[in-house]
Amino acid sequence: MGTPVNIIVGSQVWVEDPEIAWIHGEVAEINGKKAKILTIDGKSVVKEISSIYPKDTEAPPAGVDDMTKLAYLHEPGVLYNLACRFSLNEIYTYTGNILIAVNPFRRLPHLYDIHMMEQYKGAAFGELSPHLFAVADTCYRAMINENGSQSILVSGESGAGKTETTKMLMRYLAFMGGRSNTEGRTVEQQVLESNPVLEAFGNAKTVKNNNSSRFGKFVEIQFDKNGKISGAAIRTYLLERSRVCQVSDPERNYHCFYMLCAAPPEDIKKYKLGDPRQFHYLNQSNCYKVSNMDDAKEYLETRNAMDIVGINLDEQDAIFRVVAAILHLGNINFVKGKEFDSSKLKDDKSLFHLRTVAELLMCNEKSLQDSLCQRVIVTPDGNITKLLDPDAAALSRDALAKTVYSKLFDWIVDKINNSIGQDSNAISIIGHVFKMEQEVYTKEEINWSYVEFVDNQDVLDLIEKKPGGIIALLDEACMFPKSTHETFAQKMYQTYKAHKRFRKPKLAQTDFTINHYAGDVTYQADYFLDKNKDYVVAEHQALLWASKCNFVANLFPPLHEETSKQSKFSSIGSQFKQQLQSLMETLSTTEPHYIRCVKPNTVLQPGIFENNNVLNQLRCGGVLEAIRISCAGYPTKRTFEEFLNRFGMVALDVLDGSDEKKSSIAICDKMGLKGYQIGKTKVFLRAGQMAELDARRAEI
Ligand code: ATP
Ligand code: MG
Repeated sequence: MGTPVNIIVGSQVWVEDPEIAWIHGEVAEINGKKAKILTIDGKSVVKEISSIYPKDTEAPPAGVDDMTKLAYLHEPGVLYNLACRFSLNEIYTYTGNILIAVNPFRRLPHLYDIHMMEQYKGAAFGELSPHLFAVADTCYRAMINENGSQSILVSGESGAGKTETTKMLMRYLAFMGGRSNTEGRTVEQQVLESNPVLEAFGNAKTVKNNNSSRFGKFVEIQFDKNGKISGAAIRTYLLERSRVCQVSDPERNYHCFYMLCAAPPEDIKKYKLGDPRQFHYLNQSNCYKVSNMDDAKEYLETRNAMDIVGINLDEQDAIFRVVAAILHLGNINFVKGKEFDSSKLKDDKSLFHLRTVAELLMCNEKSLQDSLCQRVIVTPDGNITKLLDPDAAALSRDALAKTVYSKLFDWIVDKINNSIGQDSNAISIIGHVFKMEQEVYTKEEINWSYVEFVDNQDVLDLIEKKPGGIIALLDEACMFPKSTHETFAQKMYQTYKAHKRFRKPKLAQTDFTINHYAGDVTYQADYFLDKNKDYVVAEHQALLWASKCNFVANLFPPLHEETSKQSKFSSIGSQFKQQLQSLMETLSTTEPHYIRCVKPNTVLQPGIFENNNVLNQLRCGGVLEAIRISCAGYPTKRTFEEFLNRFGMVALDVLDGSDEKKSSIAICDKMGLKGYQIGKTKVFLRAGQMAELDARRAEI
């Protein structure tokens, strides 16, 4: 960021430090391009002058509420400001029109109560302390005054507070746009209660967050002419399906499974449940409890929220029957059968669970077993039944569990949307949660399109160009039955060997590395093919379509011949890309507002601010970039040429005839300007500086 222009012996400076990112010190000696600095931890270090930054000794100890008010706008200044504020429980800070929200990891009830909402209602932006209510209020007023749709984009890594932030935004909008004194279920109540329902089925404890959303979410809240909430639409993206049948320490499966195991005795009996430790889909991990979360209580609350969003009791019963069936399904085990490469149930226990699944899903027990242990292959000469060995049968079982769960999740989302209702004449405020977490891309393999909002064009082309991009190659590979992840990887290695953003790590068989905007990410191609295929096994579809339970049958409507052909090849990668495209189109018609959530530490504890960690998030999230170019901080910009034409005369002696940039810097320095910025082609001046320069010019 800023160029260190005025560092002399005795200057207070920031010096890079491996432990705490930046440490404060005093310059003791200057030797050419190097400076010796005594740091506050009593060490003496020698650094290039170009790598140290002046510290603002006049900075208010409580920090500033907008980064653009910092006298010295550089990385250590920004970091130190956030840290100061965090230590005082000031978790919100503006950066121009971006709100930075640092997760306090402790409840701050007064911060979000009704009195707070009253205060922010109608207050001018910047008048009160930074707050997400201020962002919501600005949006609401802009929507009313300009009659245009607004969007709020909430980003941050896992555990940074996106979900909590979004819930508070929704609360504020419900407060502003709600109809007071109305009886019964109001639209705004339904909108708010959709959160606990979606969290029960789409959130889980992970290493990074005890309540991690395992899906992307886009909420549109619609308002009528009078500014009252008239409808809402929720769209979800890419639920993590693998979690249903695969969890490892110290993570958990989706909350709903544990809630149901903690349900009142009559429900436990009805669904033949009990201790979660007995279920394979839960006991692969030793974690059953989440601190501060009471599964029994959550079960009742989820039921209550389901009532409010319009899921009736019969539907609730069906939903939990399906959830229970999935747990029982996971306990069906197979051993080698009599015939070659065939399988049969392992023991009586497996038989019990098979029967229970059939009972809960109201489907035929024999058909269920067949659908797990056999595949029917359609050939021109008729159908051939292929038997599955025990491993393949277990995979088929898991595939069924994942499919049923993801259909259930989609049903719930659809139901909520239908019952809240859509207002097609409305203007809206849209909240979208972006996940910008590198590991997610690696783990979820194809989630990487999220990167595209911040990535470089050549990386985007590499990923999604048609033809020739990675998604296109992947789709192609998925269409050939013989493809394996090895052949797919080989094809990528060959195709992109000269691409400067693609690398094959040494000794890698199927891994590949992409050099993203935010850094290198290595992907494992192993499950790419599986994850990209999104068709329901025909046997599973037929089995459940025949269910005597309408709810279950309706999750699996038969596909028409035409669509079935297409959907065999429909790929998640391309679908997701399309979804994102349409999202971007929607967003492009709105005025955007940004909230960047920051996770202060990896131990999820209050009061701990890990400098390096935070800095990394600020860098990756483009916050520093945004600060640099923030117009609020630099109301005046001039190209070097314009700048020299206007002010060259005040500093003729320092001009460099061949270099406009150097000359511009020299002028600013000679005039003693502080906190200005030099871009690639322009000088960025702070408020008042232009006037200051003009005054000097007039003196000549
Ligand atoms: P993921 O991407 O994993 O879904 P997220 O960004 O949605 O993560 P949240 O679930 O919103 O993260 O936040 C994680 C936890 O941090 C919350 O469960 C809560 O305990 C705490 N938290 C977040 N924001 C706040 C806040 N404003 N006040 C108090 N606690 C908070
Ligand atoms: Mg979340």
